[in-house]
Amino acid sequence: MSTNKKSVSTAQRKEKAVLVLVSFENKQDTKMQIDELKSLAQATNLEVVGTVMQNKDKPDPAFLIGAGKLGEVKELVNDENADLVIFDNELTGSKIKNLEEQLNVRVIDRSMLILDIFARRAKTNEGKMQAELAQLKYALPRLSSLQGTQGRFGAGVGMRGPGETKLELRRRVIEKDIKDKEKQLEKLNKNRELARNKRNNSPKKQVAIVGYTNSGKSTLMNTITKADILAKNMLFATLDTTTRSVYLAPKKEILLVDTVGFVSKLPHEFIEAFSATLEEAVYADVILHVIDASNPLYKEQEQVAKKVLKDLGVKNKPIIKVYNKIDKVPNFDKTPAKNNVYVSALNNEGIDELKEKIIKVI
Ligand code: GDP
Ligand code: MG
Repeated sequence: MSTNKKSVSTAQRKEKAVLVLVSFENKQDTKMQIDELKSLAQATNLEVVGTVMQNKDKPDPAFLIGAGKLGEVKELVNDENADLVIFDNELTGSKIKNLEEQLNVRVIDRSMLILDIFARRAKTNEGKMQAELAQLKYALPRLSSLQGTQGRFGAGVGMRGPGETKLELRRRVIEKDIKDKEKQLEKLNKNRELARNKRNNSPKKQVAIVGYTNSGKSTLMNTITKADILAKNMLFATLDTTTRSVYLAPKKEILLVDTVGFVSKLPHEFIEAFSATLEEAVYADVILHVIDASNPLYKEQEQVAKKVLKDLGVKNKPIIKVYNKIDKVPNFDKTPAKNNVYVSALNNEGIDELKEKIIKVI
């Protein structure tokens, strides 16, 4: 089986995906969830050809989704000639297997999609290895149905899973692979720690930019440093942290750290795997929490970012809330508050005020 990720999907037509979300809590945020799943799918270069949503009291034991709705998904898959179905819900190995048998296309869940995006976008050795490790860990308990463990979908359309003995063999190979990667990562972690100690010993204060994905963190970093970090209207354009030294004012030199973006419902494999890069936020002196003020769901996203920070153990640290993209929402409530700033990273609006706030808190 090919493990060369780069050879997959380049120069081919875009793969078509049907999105499915089954809600058991009758929650209001289903629209946000499905929109986010759509962005995630698009970020990995898939064409979304349809969405199916269902409210249910409890999951169907075999398919999660109800049998009737499953028929609807199947029809959509056939009509649109879809290549795969992506569930927003987390799926067990057996459910994936059952669904694939019914739908005759590959079925993946949201976490697999996210992990795949991370694997594709990682740039440093450490980032790549963390992503691969997370994928392996996620794949292991789902091995009975997963056709590949490397890259997004492993094998192509219609490939069936291997037989039992092959499965056992593969399980052992993966377990060994996981151990090897963990060892290598430990080494890389030590290097990172050394680098961090060096930075901590420097008199320069560290300012970490965190926030929901696509909120404008890299753009802000560019505007402040005039550096050229990839800013793209794609989720996860930044996978690995980037650090730049910058003068906010004469003699006020800081280290600015651009971090990976947050999404809601992060798989725990993900949090664990990426803690090393997200850790930058824990060690920073000041945190810039960037919020996309033009997103109607900015309040929910603000909460997601807050929760992730809390999960990471960030506390007792000055946090400046940076409401960004203010150029798109002229009527945004800009009530002055001690730790709030309203900026447009794109148009350089409010950036001086932000710099002053940073100088004040450090
Ligand atoms: P990140 O994922 O948080 O690093 O977000 P990026 O910096 O990559 O920005 C995501 C998208 O939002 C890009 O298309 C940016 O051009 C756009 N963007 C960032 N800041 C602003 C802003 O102040 N105003 C507007 N209108 N767009 C912005
Ligand atoms: Mg970025």
